[in-house]
Amino acid sequence: MARIFCIANQKGGVGKTTTAVNLAAGIAAHGARVLLVDLDPQGNATMGSGIDKRTLAASVYQVLLGIHDITDALQHAEHGGYDVLGANRELAGAEIELVNLDQREMRMKGALAHVQHEYEFILIDCPPSLSLLTLNGLCAAHGVIIPMQCEYFALEGLADLVNTIQRVAGHLNPDLRIIGLLRVMFDARMTLQQQVSEQLVEKFGDKVFTTIIPRNVRLAEAPSYGLPGVAYDRASKGAQAYISFGAEMIERVQAMEFAA
Ligand code: ATP
Ligand code: MG
Repeated sequence: MARIFCIANQKGGVGKTTTAVNLAAGIAAHGARVLLVDLDPQGNATMGSGIDKRTLAASVYQVLLGIHDITDALQHAEHGGYDVLGANRELAGAEIELVNLDQREMRMKGALAHVQHEYEFILIDCPPSLSLLTLNGLCAAHGVIIPMQCEYFALEGLADLVNTIQRVAGHLNPDLRIIGLLRVMFDARMTLQQQVSEQLVEKFGDKVFTTIIPRNVRLAEAPSYGLPGVAYDRASKGAQAYISFGAEMIERVQAMEFAA
């Protein structure tokens, strides 16, 4: 039965999609069956997986609204080795259309229940907001992975996100927990980044993943070829870091299961 993880941070451009796509490919490279759900109307995770968001016959939008079964909307990301539930601009409308539906924050959970037995990992790439879409992701998940840049304001935004996760865990999804904070786009030459990184470890202890994702241009180039960085240039520092992160996630999830 799949473990479901949201990649979330309401700040824009912090590396959520890059993490979602490369973690999916990184875990798939270790031999696990993975589904990547694109829950962002920008459709970046879809495009970055080599699937054209403009020609989707069915997307996460129709699945959330109950127009299509999830099984009709799944595609395979050939180079990444994982499946994708794609998204495009249509999904922006869901925010409003979902409001009047029953169990509006539980639609994603309901849809994933149909395919959860076919995967070991389901990763959900959330949009940069604490919207009803993100709420659907959080209600469906067992845990949250929070990518963040080690910048001065990063810690401020984190408090809002942690509060939201705690509220969801308290009221809607008791299974939900923070799996870890992932330091991304890290530049070890910047003193400020090192200081913020140390503060993070001081404050959050082992909730901070050991793996650090460096700033690496190959990761930024990869989406324009419709490839995860891990498939585009496997030897690059960025790809290698995401492969290590995949291994760390698998280990962390196994440890959690022992503890449960
Ligand atoms: P949004 O909030 O808009 O969904 P996001 O949090 O998903 O953004 P990404 O799209 O993953 O963030 O990354 C933002 C930009 O930074 C992209 O251009 C991406 O290619 C680049 N980027 C992400 N991670 C790295 C990295 N480790 N090294 C270099 N560039 C990176
Ligand atoms: Mg994104």
